Amino acid sequence: MSGRGGEKGARPKPARITSPEAAERLVRDLKRDQSGEPDYRRRSLQLYGLVCAKCGREFDERTRHLLTVHHKDGNHLNNPADGSNWENLCVYCHDDEHSRSILADYLAGRR
Ligand SMILES: [Zn+2]
Ligand SMILES: [Zn+2]
Repeated sequence: MSGRGGEKGARPKPARITSPEAAERLVRDLKRDQSGEPDYRRRSLQLYGLVCAKCGREFDERTRHLLTVHHKDGNHLNNPADGSNWENLCVYCHDDEHSRSILADYLAGRR
């Protein structure tokens, strides 16, 4: 039946690490993928703590993925170091915040 592809070692070769820099970059990439947190997120959680700015719900290392960083001006690229554009919101309040502003825009006839 399966008369083709007799070779069993046809796996893709792992990327060869040719220099210490390449190894370092690889490790850094792996670490970033593991935490999955952008820089601003980590900084904002550090700055304001693991607490929702709206409902006051507190989080810890285990539940911190439920706490999100809201950008007050809606621009995720605007990340001033003093954190003035950030607000830590739990996923529920964050959702609420966004649906509210969409609704406000809608009611104001802006769309
Ligand atoms: Zn909340
Ligand atoms: Zn937001």
